[in-house]
Amino acid sequence: MSAPGNRLKILMCTSEALPWAKTGGLADTVSSLSLALAKSGHELTIVMPRYYGIDRGKLKKLEGAMGVPVGGGEEWSAVYTTVLPGGKEKNPVRVYFIDHEGFFGREGIYGNPATPDYPDNPRRFAFFCRSCFQLCRKIGWYPDVIHAHDWPASLAPVFLKYGEKYGISSEEESFVNTVSVLTIHNLGYQGIYSKDAFFNTNLGWDVFYQAGFDDWEMMNFLKAGITTADRLNTVSPNYARETLTQAQGFRLDAKLRARGEDYSGILNGIDETQWNPRTDKYLPAPFDEKDLGGKALAKRTLQRTFKLHETPSVPVIGMVTRLTDQKGIGELFGPAYGSAWSICRDMNVQFVFLGSGDAWAENEIRSLASRLSNFKAHIGYSEELSHLIEGGADFFLMPSRYEPCGLNQMYSLAYGTLPIVRNTGGLADTVQNYNQETGEGTGFLFDDLNPSAIYNTVGWAVWAWYNKREQIEEMRLRGMKQDFSWTKSARQYTKLYRAALGKSPGPR
Ligand code: ADP
Repeated sequence: MSAPGNRLKILMCTSEALPWAKTGGLADTVSSLSLALAKSGHELTIVMPRYYGIDRGKLKKLEGAMGVPVGGGEEWSAVYTTVLPGGKEKNPVRVYFIDHEGFFGREGIYGNPATPDYPDNPRRFAFFCRSCFQLCRKIGWYPDVIHAHDWPASLAPVFLKYGEKYGISSEEESFVNTVSVLTIHNLGYQGIYSKDAFFNTNLGWDVFYQAGFDDWEMMNFLKAGITTADRLNTVSPNYARETLTQAQGFRLDAKLRARGEDYSGILNGIDETQWNPRTDKYLPAPFDEKDLGGKALAKRTLQRTFKLHETPSVPVIGMVTRLTDQKGIGELFGPAYGSAWSICRDMNVQFVFLGSGDAWAENEIRSLASRLSNFKAHIGYSEELSHLIEGGADFFLMPSRYEPCGLNQMYSLAYGTLPIVRNTGGLADTVQNYNQETGEGTGFLFDDLNPSAIYNTVGWAVWAWYNKREQIEEMRLRGMKQDFSWTKSARQYTKLYRAALGKSPGPR
């Protein structure tokens, strides 16, 4: 039964959520969006696996075990629960963890460094998606909307449409009025596996084709989700448009085009409890657009931390990223051709890098740091340093090949750090290009991804720093005044849920 009034019951089906499990922006989005939706009055429940690293001692165990049908029989799991930190006591976001030692009691979410994609992932995530339905039965709570995120949750819309929706006990207690929404956080990851693993879904071969699992000789989880979810979206309007093209559609552009109006883009917000220069606990002093004194101090602290000359007049370029091809790291750090070397050699700048990922890039970055006195790097993951870089740098570089939304450029804008970004995906939606005639803009954009385009655009920003300083200062303030709150995005998601509910055909 629906929640009273305009209040929707929403179940987030996800493989990642902060503060428990994160490999990328998906984790930030699920938690922040859930909090924003709950704040606006909706009833929110998150379901995710209990991975090995999530301490059971801090969670409450539900009574009894839960049986979950999965290919070849049934698997049993325990269920743990807690509430999402940061929510309101009156309307908390409930979180349920599906606990199965065999599937999730291991290091890594999707794999580990030796095996980046676990071979039993189709079984692990088929089990997980089915367990979302079993959980609702167990707690006697049936959502209006199942909101699935990325390929690991893509079977939830499929299970809803092919089986769960019509497995009626009574209309009050069933999924008969439930609809599904699928959010694509990154089209580059689709969950493609051998067809042999399809039996794990407990679905028939007719559904394999009807639900769109077929992908040449393989089985594609995300494609099935795209085919069956009542509504689809991705995390920025521009990325939604780009993914409809062959160039950026990762072979699913035709599938997305076929969904027409059902597919849209909603820009992510940023978590302002974590990313706000007025309250950031990692900064040496708070600052805002009225008083940038704290930013100057953050710059000095950043320079000291990375053992750079503490010179206010030299611009600091920051970068925080996963080292993967998606982020343009070949063009920036490729040995012998990447532009980072010549930027640091030719320009009067300081460059600070934080990140980890592909081994070749980590090695090259270490090598650059040993050869260039104005290039410093920390290889690894550090929440604290990422805040200090956003706060203390003057420019922030993101030469992404593609970027569904991107969070760092929004953090940068909020912290008065001017983004230098490729004109793609969510970067194009959030950064306005500098106009040196009028001084308009909030950052620096370039179209082509190649080493000289990065070099030239960084050069342009550095030129403006030394020659158009007033415009740079005005741009900082303009960026800091922008609204990237989740409230706006949550309103758009509510509209999307209602559109899905309006469209649902109801019982067959
Ligand atoms: P993606 O999800 O593709 O990695 P986003 O920009 O959407 O890119 O989100 C990346 C998030 O991960 C940001 O919050 C960023 O600050 C954080 N991040 C990435 N690498 C690191 C790192 N080495 N240390 C700290 N935070 C990091």
